[in-house]
Amino acid sequence: MEITFLGTGAGSTLGSKRMKSSILIEDSGNSVLLDLGTGANFKLEDIGKLNIDAIFISHLHIDHINGIFDYLVQRKIHGMNPIKIYSPPGFGNILNQFKTEGNEIDAEVIESKLPSAKIGNIEVRSVKACHKIYAVAYIINNKIIYSGDTAEPCNEIVSESKDAELIIHEATCVAGCEIYGHTSVKDALSIFPNDKLILTHIPSQKEKDIFQEVNNRAKIAYDGMRINV
Ligand SMILES: [Zn+2]
Ligand SMILES: [Zn+2]
Repeated sequence: MEITFLGTGAGSTLGSKRMKSSILIEDSGNSVLLDLGTGANFKLEDIGKLNIDAIFISHLHIDHINGIFDYLVQRKIHGMNPIKIYSPPGFGNILNQFKTEGNEIDAEVIESKLPSAKIGNIEVRSVKACHKIYAVAYIINNKIIYSGDTAEPCNEIVSESKDAELIIHEATCVAGCEIYGHTSVKDALSIFPNDKLILTHIPSQKEKDIFQEVNNRAKIAYDGMRINV
């Protein structure tokens, strides 16, 4: 299985060094996206990977879904079928609003409090995260965890992390962003096994402080980073 970080920025990230949240997972000819935030759709185009089987949305904040609409336009232009989009409740309403206003985009939206599906060999399930709005964390193939946005310690994520192979976790600040529903580098490093951790959702303008705090104890993702698991 191959994991590509398309977007590793946070909602607050300025500029184009880090696009907003998106991870591409590929296995045996199948591919799924976990979130598709602003600009990450361009990274998908850059690697020539328009044909995706499904998108899983962690929550409905703009930095996790904004790339989807532009991507759906490309799918339409290239005559591709409506893609399956798994999401917590609400994404269908947003998509319908774009359609009502005349945008010719389409998708098969499957809403659920805890989205899950099996796409070829890629098995995806979710647990509730602890964010400002309803959000889920995704678990791939028992067991790679993608936290989405969450404050920690978040019971279900912590409990899933016990036997995880890889924990892709948000780290939106050095310290003190729990009140905004986010995880600090300090919390991520103290709660999860550092050798299994890849930190993402990084505000570019605070990158220097975050790198300093992490001090090579865990990996920090960057746009375009690819790993095999
Ligand atoms: Zn976010
Ligand atoms: Zn969020």
